[in-house]
Amino acid sequence: MRLLEGSTGLVVGVANHRSLAWHIASACAAAGARLVLSYQNERLGENVLRLAADLPDTLTCRCDVSSDADLSELGSFLERQVGGIDFLVHSVAWARREELQGEFLATSREGFREAHDISVYSLVALARMARPLMQARRGGSILTLSFLGSRRVFPGYNVMGAAKASLEASVRYLASDLGPDNIRVNALSAGPLRTLAASGIRGLVRMLELYRERAPLGRSPDPSEVADAALFLLSPLSRGITGEVLHVDGGYHLTGV
Ligand code: NAD
Repeated sequence: MRLLEGSTGLVVGVANHRSLAWHIASACAAAGARLVLSYQNERLGENVLRLAADLPDTLTCRCDVSSDADLSELGSFLERQVGGIDFLVHSVAWARREELQGEFLATSREGFREAHDISVYSLVALARMARPLMQARRGGSILTLSFLGSRRVFPGYNVMGAAKASLEASVRYLASDLGPDNIRVNALSAGPLRTLAASGIRGLVRMLELYRERAPLGRSPDPSEVADAALFLLSPLSRGITGEVLHVDGGYHLTGV
């Protein structure tokens, strides 16, 4: 199905072939979208350029989301190169490794600030940057990636749990602001998957075991299942949906014990 034929999208957060952003980008390209992939730094850029070569007509641009100058440069790049965008995928999270172990109580002020700046404020800043580019297309869809640690305690997820709660609240506020521009904002709450970001979380192996034991579907999702749900939220099929957090987690979120 060419659900995104004729559309252009920005995907932020490809680090390597395991990245959820990469799975989503591949699904979007297969659905007919033209893509711009942004990467954090030159080191990761090498991977991203290699991966982008497999997708037709794909542009790349460096952008560290903690830098206002980089965000502004990305906005100018998009305006110059593609004129407008129809969708934006925000697949970015970061916290200091030491904040992802031990007690949440020990979270440092700087660790808390950095995790929220990079993992949450970046969505607000990118949505602001994207607004005129989406207005040029009479609307758009913005998607971010969350995790159930926003609402439940997963030992070791710590400050990232607080950041994901803030991210999900930001989705609702952004959806309210941008609705009149016909811009939708949603989140996918994915079950645990082995990626670079997840490797920083102690207890990932136990989490994967728990999902196998308790999720109604008996597993954490496959990355392609996350990508297909992303395609739905980015495409006109979900045109009546905004401010939503959709779980793609084998149903784990509904379990009590
Ligand atoms: P990943 O490591 O492949 O992706 C994280 C991305 O964030 C990387 O591309 C990294 O370069 C980028 N990033 C970090 N700091 C940045 C900065 N300052 N500027 C620009 N980019 C920056 O891992 P992933 O698992 O694909 O993570 C993507 C999203 O999915 C994250 O929001 C993560 O919390 C979420 N998620 C992951 C899982 C999982 O188990 N892997 C589950 C649910 C949600």
